[in-house]
Amino acid sequence: MATQNPGFSTLAVHAGAAPDPTTGARATPIYQTTSFVFNDADHAAALFGLQQFGNIYTRIMNPTQAVLEERVAALEGGTAALAVASGHAAQMLAFHTIMTPGRNFVAARGLYGGSINQFGHAFQNFGWQVRWADAADPAGFDAQIDDNTQAIFIESLANPGGTFVDIQAVADVAHRRGLPLIVDNTMASPYLVRPLEHGADIVIHSLTKFLGGHGNSMGGVLVDGGTFDWSASGRYPMLSEPRPEYAGLVLHQTFGNFAFAIAARVLGLRDLGPAISPFNAFMILTGIETLPLRMQKHSDNAAAVARWLKGHDKIAWVNYAGLEEDPNHALQQQYSPNGAGSVFTIGLKGGYEAGKGFVEGLKLFSHLANIGDTRSLVIHPASTTHRQLTSDQQVSAGAGPDVVRLSVGIEDVADIIADLQQSLERI
Ligand SMILES: *Cc1c(COP(=O)(O)O)cnc(C)c1O
Repeated sequence: MATQNPGFSTLAVHAGAAPDPTTGARATPIYQTTSFVFNDADHAAALFGLQQFGNIYTRIMNPTQAVLEERVAALEGGTAALAVASGHAAQMLAFHTIMTPGRNFVAARGLYGGSINQFGHAFQNFGWQVRWADAADPAGFDAQIDDNTQAIFIESLANPGGTFVDIQAVADVAHRRGLPLIVDNTMASPYLVRPLEHGADIVIHSLTKFLGGHGNSMGGVLVDGGTFDWSASGRYPMLSEPRPEYAGLVLHQTFGNFAFAIAARVLGLRDLGPAISPFNAFMILTGIETLPLRMQKHSDNAAAVARWLKGHDKIAWVNYAGLEEDPNHALQQQYSPNGAGSVFTIGLKGGYEAGKGFVEGLKLFSHLANIGDTRSLVIHPASTTHRQLTSDQQVSAGAGPDVVRLSVGIEDVADIIADLQQSLERI
C-alpha cells in the first residue's frame, strides 16, 4: 500500500496484505497448512529462540492470520495484534499475560453475559479474581483497586445495554494507579470507536461479530496499544522478568512497545492453544473489507428503527444512545460521532410474556444468540445469554425480564420496520 496516511476505508481493504509473492494471487491466500519448512538448522534454531520472526507451526502463527492481525492493528491504531479462536480466547490470553494467581482486576458490571461468566467463574480456577464497578462512574473503579489489582476492563459500547462508556475517564483512573486499561471494542468496532485514541492500552475483540460481520466464522483478537510500561511496577513478571522458556529473554526489554502481543503469542497462545484456523482468518479478513460500509448502514438502520419503535404504543422504552433525548447521547456524540451502532435494547409494556411473543412473531429477524450479522437478529437476554446470572446481575447488565435485544441488520430499513410492526400488532 503506497498511499501515505491512508484513511480508514483504505486500511480496511489493504492493511497487511500484498499480492502473494509466489503466485501473484491478489486475495490473501488461505495458507491451510499446520507447519512450515525451515531453510536450515540455524534458521530453525533462530525461530525457536525468538531471534528471528517466522512461521513454525500454525498454533503459533500463520501467514493468513498474520494479515488479519496487521489489518486489525492498523484499524485500531495499535503496534501489533494477535488473532485467536474466539473473543473469549482473546480475553483469556490478555489476562493470562498480566495476571498471576491471587491477583485481581476491576471490570464493568454491564458486560456481555459470557464475559461475566468467564470472569466470575472460569477465571477463578486460575486464581484470578474479578471485582465489579459501574461503568458510568469512573471513581467507582478506583474504589475497587487494591495492592493486588492488575488491570481495569470495560466495553466501549456495552452489550446488551447499548451504552457508551467515558473511556478516557476510566483510563485516567487506571493510569493514576499504574494499571493498564483493557477495552472490549466488539460492539462498536474500530469504525465507530478507537479506544487506543482515548487512553486504552489494550483492545480486544470478538471477531465473530461486526469485524467478520456475516455470522459465519468465530474469531477473536487482542491489540497491543504499545503505550503501557510493563516494567515500571514489577507486577507483570511475564513481561518484565527473564523467561525460562526462552533462555532468560526479557520480553518487554527485547520487544518494547509490542511486547504484550508477543507475550500473548509465545507464552499464552503457544501453551494454551486457542489458535484461529486459517480459513476463519480468511473469512474474517474478507468481512473486514466492507466494515465501514456495513457499520454505517447498521447504525443508520438502527437509528431509524429505534426512532420508529419509540413512537409505538406497545413499547415501554427504547435504550438507544443515538436518540437525541437518550441520557447516553452526549457520550455517543463524543466517542462515536459516525453513529450509535446496531445493537440496542427495548422494553415491551406487556413485560416478559409480551417480549417472548414479540420475538416469536418476528419473521425477517432471526431469533438467536449472536450480534453483528448482516441479518437482523433478536433475542430475549434474560432467558438466554444472561440466563446464568442472578436477577440482580441481569438488571445491572441491562438484561432484565422485560428486555428484548435487537441487532439491526443491513436489509432495507422499510422491511425491518414492517416485520417489527406485524409482530407488535399481534401482541
Ligand atoms: C460475543 C462477545 C464476546 C465473546 O466472543 P466470542 O467470539 O463469542 O468468544 C465478548 N465480548 C462481547 C462484547 C461479545 O459480544
